Amino acid sequence: MSHVVIPRRLTQRVMVGDIAIGGEAPVVVQSMTNTDTVDAEGTAKQIFELAQAGSELVRITVNTSEAAAQVPRIRELLDAMGCHVPLVGDFHYNGHRLLTEFPECARALAKYRINPGNVGRNRKGEDQFAMMIAVARQYDKPVRIGVNWGSLDQDLVVRMMDENAKLPEPKDVAEVTRAALIASALDSARRAEELGLPHDRIVLSCKVSEVQDLIAVYRELAQRCDYPLHLGLTEAGMGSKGIVASTAALAVLLQDGIGDTIRISLTPEPGGDRTQEVVVAQEILQTMGLRSFAPMVTACPGCGRTTSTVFQELAQSIQSYLRAQMPVWREQYSGVEEMSVAVMGCIVNGPGESKLANIGISLPGTGENPAAPVYVDGEKVTTLRGENIAEEFTQIVSDYVARKYAPRAEGETVRRQIPIQSI
Ligand code: SF4
Repeated sequence: MSHVVIPRRLTQRVMVGDIAIGGEAPVVVQSMTNTDTVDAEGTAKQIFELAQAGSELVRITVNTSEAAAQVPRIRELLDAMGCHVPLVGDFHYNGHRLLTEFPECARALAKYRINPGNVGRNRKGEDQFAMMIAVARQYDKPVRIGVNWGSLDQDLVVRMMDENAKLPEPKDVAEVTRAALIASALDSARRAEELGLPHDRIVLSCKVSEVQDLIAVYRELAQRCDYPLHLGLTEAGMGSKGIVASTAALAVLLQDGIGDTIRISLTPEPGGDRTQEVVVAQEILQTMGLRSFAPMVTACPGCGRTTSTVFQELAQSIQSYLRAQMPVWREQYSGVEEMSVAVMGCIVNGPGESKLANIGISLPGTGENPAAPVYVDGEKVTTLRGENIAEEFTQIVSDYVARKYAPRAEGETVRRQIPIQSI
């Protein structure tokens, strides 16, 4: 892993529970449940899984009285499981009512997400926005002003379109819409401060679903304020398209030093694992050299020199094993998240890559001697043969971790980030 120093946009630091967003803090990974919040047990279970996967904040839908009534219970269930991940409440349309009528819900949440496009219109909307900010002040909670392309304040859009039409050289519609997104976020933040919410209790987001729009919006937003920014490509989509589009957009912005917390909005496959969005977010940050979360497996793509699937299966089983171990290792061993493991398909690049990793195995390709040399810290330590190569290699990895990485000191933080220089 190459450790890089990326000049980072300097922002206010906002505390969400015990998690810092912005300032010198690492880029925070967050996720969102897709359970019915009324189902407290099911929601707590999914939050627990997301937190175990490494989500540092988890957002939940709070859309009805029944959902709001369950939020304190969800918090209790998680605390009883030893899971103290801060919860963010996602409010639309009726947040003012839910937050005021369910004070235990307002207290149990660590942050409120407010979408200015969905708080109501005109005077009524202003009053409802003010009610939510008053609750945030009362319980000393931060707020994310979360503007979204799909729910942008239509009065604002119409007004800006009208003004644009009167210009000698009107801008195109997409440009005006991007400007409206930014104006909505900044105006709402200014209004929240006028209502008494401290400057360091505000996070902003302006989510859109097209890569180039997202990059343009955030570059401008970053220049115009010092609030921490939540990055995410909304409605990114399913499978590889969602992953690729999110990565393309976020990588450009993170490389610019923009972004203090990220969420990957993947549409899960039916019955799919919600934690995938956490893994993708972590892998974006880790492959860019910004943070380390879990040991990475380097595996070759395979080619005509490999006729069996042995090395594919070994690479997959090792990656799964490392991920499965991380909730325990993360607490026990300092630095284990930076370990690298290589699983290679043949002699061409196998020994070379294996020597560069902490631990590497070079499996036999077609026509090669059926033996798999194993390298530890650049030295060949053994050669595996036979049916149990996967189990034996896993044991070597496990022994290495216990031997190589120091036990964490009590109270040592497990939020690590490769140092980033602020500008
Ligand atoms: S290491 Fe060997 S099997 Fe893997 S891609 Fe290269 S030549 Fe093919």
